[in-house]
Amino acid sequence: MPVPTKSAKLLDVAVIGSGPAAFTAAIYAARENLSVRLYERESIGGLTGIISKIENFPGFAGTGAQLMQFMRTQAESFGAKVEYGECTAVAKAKDHFALTIDEESVLARSVIVATGTVRRKLGLPGEDLPGVSYCATCDGPLVAGKKVIVIGGGNSAVQESFFLLKYASGVTILSRSALRCSDVLKARLAAEPRITVITGIEPWEFVARSGKLASVKGRLKESGATKSFSAHFAFVFVGMVPATGFLPSEILASDGSVETKPDFSTRIPGLFAAGDCRMGSVKQAVVAAGEGASAAISASKYLSAHLC
Ligand code: NAP
Repeated sequence: MPVPTKSAKLLDVAVIGSGPAAFTAAIYAARENLSVRLYERESIGGLTGIISKIENFPGFAGTGAQLMQFMRTQAESFGAKVEYGECTAVAKAKDHFALTIDEESVLARSVIVATGTVRRKLGLPGEDLPGVSYCATCDGPLVAGKKVIVIGGGNSAVQESFFLLKYASGVTILSRSALRCSDVLKARLAAEPRITVITGIEPWEFVARSGKLASVKGRLKESGATKSFSAHFAFVFVGMVPATGFLPSEILASDGSVETKPDFSTRIPGLFAAGDCRMGSVKQAVVAAGEGASAAISASKYLSAHLC
């Protein structure tokens, strides 16, 4: 049983996560003079924090890391506290929640879950080899002057391929279906000779030589034949899965996303969810920020109704 030592105080709002939904929730709740603490398990910003270039967040142009640093500073300026710690359980007691953060207990009257998503893995042989990456911002500098493979055909795969061109001499995108990225990105691809797109090829295996990635083996969907692509680096962008494994199953849909009502409340009174971890989220930073604001407003109303 966790011991309540992390924060003896009963918080008004505990925010779990550190992307746009989480920080916007913290900004709104702290401006209501509520005591707010935000818990982040790895790095500030979540997946948004490692986006190489943000072009569609109104009023902002820059990297995801910059955007998230601005949000953090703003939240802290209103009194929200930011702490590193992984939440592994959320349990409802009579009139508050007990969160397990790094094996210690934290008590809060309300909770906003904004844990977003984590990159989906392929589950293929060799996927854990050095040279297979899920983060262009982190590992891009390692590919200077080299040709790299990108696996996936959505916005992430194409957008991060352009970022990789800052370092790589060329990128080959392997997509099992037709590209499903935006038309803007398709038009840019058509004008970029350093990126080659091959569709109709399913990744099959990451092949090693001397303990490092040497090639990616794919299977042609039409003929079933296999084909190898030499590469010392492969970047995998094949979608996201909600980071919600620590939550009570009664609020989760079958795909692991959190089911919410229009006010971002869940089936458990006092527990709210916002952003990409939510069922039906459109996975856009600006929308996640708006949802974080709405969830904080709902949490504030909930607290007003439940406090003497
Ligand atoms: P996504 O849109 O879900 O695309 C996933 C891609 O990976 C698809 O091409 C899919 O192929 C492929 N894929 C999935 N499982 C696979 C497997 N086992 N083997 C091979 N290929 C596989 O994922 P995403 O690009 O990460 O984007 C996630 C969400 O974030 C989307 O809603 C996206 O619009 C949003 N996003 C937006 C921006 C932006 O606005 N600038 C940037 C990045 C992401 P199939 O088509 O065959 O399923």
